[in-house]
Amino acid sequence: MAFCTQCGAAMSGDEVGLHKKIVNRGAVEFRCPVCLSAHFKIPVEELRHMIERFRKQGCTLFAPQAEKEGNRDAG
Ligand SMILES: [Zn+2]
Repeated sequence: MAFCTQCGAAMSGDEVGLHKKIVNRGAVEFRCPVCLSAHFKIPVEELRHMIERFRKQGCTLFAPQAEKEGNRDAG
């Protein structure tokens, strides 16, 4: 489980993946979509869409749709 370094919110694997994707792939500290939204001036809704888009592209930072519930800590 990761927590946002800015506001302390608990983050899902997808949210960690989003940070890695748009900030730094090698990041060890992460920010939640709300804080990324404020930083990049991108609506949270758009960030959620980006997660889905990256997932559909097969990006390994995001859990495949079918395994989202049961297999979230894999890898
Ligand atoms: Zn935050």
